Amino acid sequence: MGNSKKYDYLIIGAGLFGAVFAYEATKKGKKCLVIDKREHIGGNVYTENTDGINVHKYGAHIFHTNNKELWDYVNQFVEFNRYTNSPIANYKGEIYNLPFNMNTFNKLWGVITPQEAKEKIEQQRNAAGIADPENLEEQAISLVGTDIYEKLIKGYTEKQWGRAATDLPSFIIKRLPVRFTYDNNYFNDKYQGIPIGGYTAIIEKMLENVEVRLNIDFFQHRAELEQLGEKLVFTGMIDEFFNYQYGVLEYRSLVFEHEYLDKANFQGNAVVNYTDRETPYTRIIEHKHFEFGNQEKTIITKEYPTEWKKGDEPYYPVNNNKNNELYKKYKELADKEKNIIFGGRLATYKYYDMHQVIAAALKKVEEEFK
Ligand code: FAD
Repeated sequence: MGNSKKYDYLIIGAGLFGAVFAYEATKKGKKCLVIDKREHIGGNVYTENTDGINVHKYGAHIFHTNNKELWDYVNQFVEFNRYTNSPIANYKGEIYNLPFNMNTFNKLWGVITPQEAKEKIEQQRNAAGIADPENLEEQAISLVGTDIYEKLIKGYTEKQWGRAATDLPSFIIKRLPVRFTYDNNYFNDKYQGIPIGGYTAIIEKMLENVEVRLNIDFFQHRAELEQLGEKLVFTGMIDEFFNYQYGVLEYRSLVFEHEYLDKANFQGNAVVNYTDRETPYTRIIEHKHFEFGNQEKTIITKEYPTEWKKGDEPYYPVNNNKNNELYKKYKELADKEKNIIFGGRLATYKYYDMHQVIAAALKKVEEEFK
């Protein structure tokens, strides 16, 4: 690599992908500049401390992984607490445990043993008689029967996608985990927790020795910025990078409504899903419960799924055939760019959990410095 440019790597995006890449490259003696269009680092894992409560500004984030190396990797930056994700569902005022487990089945049907619960589900699946599911509704009923579907899946899913379950393709739900134990732990992974002090603390540590410039949109200063780095690491939207020349990749968006409440405990749990169709939001997050907070006040966030149009905040890629084909075309363009590394959820048009995006960044680092 020559030294004509000021930085070895110009990294677009101070989210997890960009931060891991910058941290590792800096450790290897490379000079990095990280820019982000937002006013803060961290991307979607950003947490903001308000009166001692770390608010997950872009939705509830729970770190979980089965991979010991990745667990050790994040723990080198901050300590994690013992938080276990056990969301509850509120269906018209009825409370159910998630994920679907013996506590849920007991509340739904009064069944006590796993055998009874299995029989109940089996009865309902058979009664529905769906051999070849043609839409999401049929798919869900063929997997877990009508009661679980009606009370815990239908309304929530319809709100998430903004469409009737009968108009949604069956592939959205490939499987629905049912657990025949009294275990409310949402994740099956060996390791999980919340970073003590919030996720921003991790990113701050990663970027401690890296130059960061905020409030800069790459596309507004593209020509000048491209002169700065020998190589570019791009974690923004891949279709925007190529001027939307083949068309626009679609997303679902979210609106977060934060409320500061003058009470100590609003809902007694970090995450409550509203699974009926009438409540306009899908979840309420009460942030203090991620860290067992005992402050006198509390902060909650209502999460509303919304339609996305170009210019809105992109949250969930819509990985249907049309968009996947479109992404493939952009990927072909990206593969031809030998001095640009595309990574993270937006540049690869993929939903990534945090551990997956860290793994992807570490893999890129390994390829880059082998
Ligand atoms: P981002 O965090 O989006 O970072 C990309 C950055 O690039 C952003 O800061 C953006 O501002 C910047 N950028 C983009 N374009 C430009 C540009 N043109 N110029 C300058 N900067 C630009 N994962 C879990 O493991 N557990 C969870 O519980 C979990 N919950 C989630 C809940 C929600 C609602 C969502 C949406 C995601 C959740 N995730 C969860 C996934 C997690 O958020 C992602 O894995 C992670 O944030 C991806 O990091 P990234 O660096 O790829 O993207």
